Amino acid sequence: MAKDVLCEVNNCSYWAQGNRCSADQIYVVSHAGTKADSSKETDCKTFEPAGH
Ligand code: SF4
Repeated sequence: MAKDVLCEVNNCSYWAQGNRCSADQIYVVSHAGTKADSSKETDCKTFEPAGH
């Protein structure tokens, strides 16, 4: 299990100083169904735009 999540998406409401994620858990999904062929094809679905 991932203990710490590092993230560069600093316009997410869960983002914290030091490229940390403050969410209790995150959900990562593949763009195309369940099969991703590279990291470019995955996204954090827990993302919430900051200020919303
Ligand atoms: S919820 Fe996802 S996008 Fe937002 S800071 Fe955490 S890992 Fe990054």
